Amino acid sequence: MDLKIGLETHAQLGSETKLFCGCRNPVMLEKEPEPNTLVCPVCLGHPGSKPMVNQKVIEIAKSVAIALNCEIAEEMFFSRKTYFYPDMSKNFQITQYEIPVAKGGFVWIDVKGEKKKIRLRRIHIEEDPAKLIHTGGIGGKYVLVDYNRSGVPLLEIVTEPDLKSPEEARVFLQKLSLILEYLGAYMPGKSIIKSDANVSLQGGARVEIKNITGTKEIEQALKYEIVRQNNLLKKGLKIEQETRMWNPDLQATQSMRKKETEEDYGYIFEPDLTVITISIGIEEIKKKIPELPDRKYNRFIKEYGLSEKLAESLVSDPETAELFEDIARKISPRIAAGWIAGYLKKTLNWHGIRFKESGLKKEWIEELLSFFAEGRITDRNGEIAIRKMVEEKRGAKEIIEKYGLWKESETNAKKIIQTVLERNSKAVEDYRKGNEKALHFLVGLCMRETKGKIDANEIRKEIIKLIG
Ligand code: ZN
Ligand code: MN
Repeated sequence: MDLKIGLETHAQLGSETKLFCGCRNPVMLEKEPEPNTLVCPVCLGHPGSKPMVNQKVIEIAKSVAIALNCEIAEEMFFSRKTYFYPDMSKNFQITQYEIPVAKGGFVWIDVKGEKKKIRLRRIHIEEDPAKLIHTGGIGGKYVLVDYNRSGVPLLEIVTEPDLKSPEEARVFLQKLSLILEYLGAYMPGKSIIKSDANVSLQGGARVEIKNITGTKEIEQALKYEIVRQNNLLKKGLKIEQETRMWNPDLQATQSMRKKETEEDYGYIFEPDLTVITISIGIEEIKKKIPELPDRKYNRFIKEYGLSEKLAESLVSDPETAELFEDIARKISPRIAAGWIAGYLKKTLNWHGIRFKESGLKKEWIEELLSFFAEGRITDRNGEIAIRKMVEEKRGAKEIIEKYGLWKESETNAKKIIQTVLERNSKAVEDYRKGNEKALHFLVGLCMRETKGKIDANEIRKEIIKLIG
C-alpha cells in the first residue's frame, strides 16, 4: 500500500514564563491553576499591549534544533497568522512562517527492529491559543474560555511525509518527546504534544487531520482515517482534499472544511517584534546538551553488556537511565539493569507513573539492591518490597522491617526445610523414585512456610543435598 504520512507536531515547552509576556507558564505548575489567573494584557491580546520575546524559549528552540540535527537560521522573525476564533482574542497568532528557527534535520526511529530515518522539514516557534471548554459538549449552548494557556510557548516540528504507517507515527512521536524530555525542553506528564497529520493514500489527495493529542491517539486516528479512505477507494469514490478533525470521544475523524491553503491565513510580518539574530551562542548551547537517548542506548550495550531490550527500557526514561548508571557503578550492572528494567518499571507502569513522579528516592532503590546483592533479601521478597515502596513512598529498610521481608538465617532455613521434609515423607519418597514434581511441591511448601524469606534456588539445592 502506498501510504504517506507527515506530521506537524506542537510541543508545549517548559520555560518558566510564557512566550511574549512575564506570566507564569502553566505547564510548569504543580497544580492546574484556576482559569484565567495567569494572564496579563499581552496574553489577553489587549489593544496597545506589546509582546517581548522570552530569550529562554529561543535557547530551548536552539537546543532542540541541534539535537534534531537541523540547520539553524542566521536570523529569524515572527509573523501574524490571521484567523478568527475565540481562543485567540487578538484574532491572530504570533508564529513563524517565512523563516523558521531551523530547517531540515532528522530523527531515527526503530520499528520492529528496523531502523529508519525520518526527515524533518522545519521547526518554528509560536504561541499556544487559549483553551476552550465545551461545557455542554460539542453543540452545547456556549463555551468557556480559559486564557491561562494563551501565550504558552510551542515548538512546531514538521516532518517530511516519510512515515509509512500509524505505528511509525506513534514511534516517531514517542522518540521525539523522549528527546525533548532529555533536553529538559518539556515536562513529561504536563506538556501536551498535539499533532496534525497529513495522510495520502495511493497517490490520492492529501487529507489533514487536526488536533490529535498524545502518542497513542495518533496511531488510532491514522488507523481510522486509512480505513475510511480505503473504503472510499473500494467504492470507486474519490478522496477529496480536506481538513478533518479527530474526535477522541467518537474515535473517528470528522470533516471540518474543504480545501484550505496556508495563503488563506494572510500572514504578515509581526510589526511589534524585531528581527532576531539567532546564529550566535550555538557552541555554548552545544556544550550544554546532555547525552541523548540513541547515544546512551549504544553506550549501555557496549559499556555494560546489556541486551538491546534492557538498554531500550532503561533509556526510555532519563531518570531510570541515571538511576541504572549510579547503581551499576556501586553494586553491579547486571543486578541494576535487571531490577530497574524489571520489577521497578513493572510497578511504575502498573501505577501509570514515571520514576520522577513516584516519590521514590534513588538511595532507597540503591539500598534495596545492595541488600539483594548481599543476599539479605530474596528475589521474590525484593519484588514485594519494591511494590510496597512505591505504594507507601518509604525506604527499603523501613518496608522490609514493616512487612518482615528479611531473608531467613541459614540455620533457621535449614530447620524449616527439615520440618517440611519430615512432615511430607510421601513426597520425599516420590522424589527419591524420580518424580521431579515432588521436588517442586516440597520447594513450594518451604516457600509458603517462610513467606518467601528463603530463596527458591537455595531451598532446592538444600533439599537435594538432604534427600537426593
Ligand atoms: Zn501574560
Ligand atoms: Mn501551528
